[in-house]
Amino acid sequence: YVIPGQRVVEGHQNYIMAYNMITGIRVAVSRCSWLPSPVKEEDFSNVTKLIFDMEGNSLTPGTKYEFKFKDYAPEVFRRLRTKFGIDQADYLLSLTEKVSLNELGSPGKSGSFFYYSRDYKFIIKTIHHSEHRQLRKVLKQYYEYVEKNPNTFISQFYGLHRLKMYTRKGIIKVHFIVMNNLFPPHRAMNLTYDLKGSTHGRRTDIEKAKAAGKTSIIAKDLNFLELKDKISLGPIKKKPIIEQIAKDVKLLQQLNIMDYSLLIGVHDLRKSQEEDPDNLMANFDPPPTRPPQPLSPPAELETEIPEPAQGNQNPSNPTSNPTQNTTPTPTFKQPHPQPTQQVQSQPTNQTTTSTNPCFIEPDGGIRATDANNEDQPLVYYMGIIDSLTNYSTFKRCETLLRCLKDKRETISAIPAFDYGERFYKFMDKIIVSKTKEELDQTKY
Ligand code: ATP
Ligand code: CA
Ligand code: CA
Repeated sequence: YVIPGQRVVEGHQNYIMAYNMITGIRVAVSRCSWLPSPVKEEDFSNVTKLIFDMEGNSLTPGTKYEFKFKDYAPEVFRRLRTKFGIDQADYLLSLTEKVSLNELGSPGKSGSFFYYSRDYKFIIKTIHHSEHRQLRKVLKQYYEYVEKNPNTFISQFYGLHRLKMYTRKGIIKVHFIVMNNLFPPHRAMNLTYDLKGSTHGRRTDIEKAKAAGKTSIIAKDLNFLELKDKISLGPIKKKPIIEQIAKDVKLLQQLNIMDYSLLIGVHDLRKSQEEDPDNLMANFDPPPTRPPQPLSPPAELETEIPEPAQGNQNPSNPTSNPTQNTTPTPTFKQPHPQPTQQVQSQPTNQTTTSTNPCFIEPDGGIRATDANNEDQPLVYYMGIIDSLTNYSTFKRCETLLRCLKDKRETISAIPAFDYGERFYKFMDKIIVSKTKEELDQTKY
């Protein structure tokens, strides 16, 4: 099994950053209360500050490096994780046990870094200060929305944190979020689209990317249109899905957010069977994004993160020592072989959230259907990502500059309301069931 991204190992430039991030998460999350009390107004603005140093103190264990860590609205995110079906102990194990975060580098132009948790369930994304402010500002609305819309396609946020550390270049502050990975650990995406409903600059040179040996190619709107592709969902599935997208877009419009995308991974069941019809592991393909591996892979980072200091925790808190009496979550390095036909009906360890089995498969995927609502051999994994960009002064400038050159409808930076309208219309148009012929012609 090929692991996406580079392992973050000792000596890697971001090793210390990754190490501190997860040490901070581990200690902070362990300190969260466990009692199911109702959320309080002050929980939204609450910030926990932790200071880490070699000696340790009553709140934190001694650590290799000195840094400061802020956990924003910990009680709110704890409840959000529960709402999204994330078990506290599993969360800690995924993000911390024998740390092995995979750094993807920066797939977007924003300069953010992405790390996968060891079991590929969670993504840590470093974010801009303005995105951090945006999430804090709308957290209450987001929380209330998730309560009413457990099937939302908007990214599931599990934590918002800040790291402050000392480097040779001086003090740096790193804001980051933990969110769901839309793609399951054991299934390859044959094609991934990042769709905004705009056309300006929305083309990936697929041939060039392939020639350059890239294995994680993210196609965009123009590629989708040029390939004459569709998201094949019959009327029964389209209805709840497009209604949910409409609601999600409405929220984002109200929050003055734009520049988000619908990320869609397509898994072609014909392909996984074709490649190796006898292989029972056919559906346990390597994870979707597989950037080139380092020439000589360095040894995996297997660092024991120090346990939180004992004796200062709520003794009834079952998460205070998450590694005890807990079976480690299996990672995608040790998949359990299962017959292919069972894979369809069995929940995998994907962090699924959906409580509406009528349109979401157990592993978070949506099975394609035709006009008669019969299954087609494609599974979609989709969600609305990059949803923390406020239509701010910066974007206003960008709109002005770009409008001088390009037609307003074709560019991404338009006010949140227009952005949402265009986004929704595009999705409504492209979610159309494929005919048998169209399906046979599509090669993913
Ligand atoms: P930009 O602002 O330039 O678009 P960004 O740094 O804000 O970039 P995103 O748009 O959030 O980055 O994500 C970039 C890519 O990372 C996506 O196209 C997708 O391939 C991958 N990605 C982001 N979020 C997720 C997620 N939740 N699950 C799976 N893949 C993701
Ligand atoms: Ca983006
Ligand atoms: Ca972005």
